Amino acid sequence: MSENKDYCPKTETCPLFQGEMLASKKAQEIYMRIYCTAGEKGRNRCKRFMLVKEGYKPAPDIMPNDDRTVEQIIKDL
Ligand code: SF4
Repeated sequence: MSENKDYCPKTETCPLFQGEMLASKKAQEIYMRIYCTAGEKGRNRCKRFMLVKEGYKPAPDIMPNDDRTVEQIIKDL
């Protein structure tokens, strides 16, 4: 699945995509649709992906729509 160019390259290791972060399958699907499978535009607005791009491994409690800036999340680590 992650070979699809419209998918985030982190799908295989990302706990959100792998269904380990959310109890609700429905909620997971919504996040996946907005961020993980929505091409470059989708993943580039995901805070998890932004952290990966900065060289960090996001903790499992950081959601794609975390309302902090990436800089703030890094400061809070
Ligand atoms: S877009 Fe974000 S949540 Fe989705 S697989 Fe990539 S890093 Fe994980």
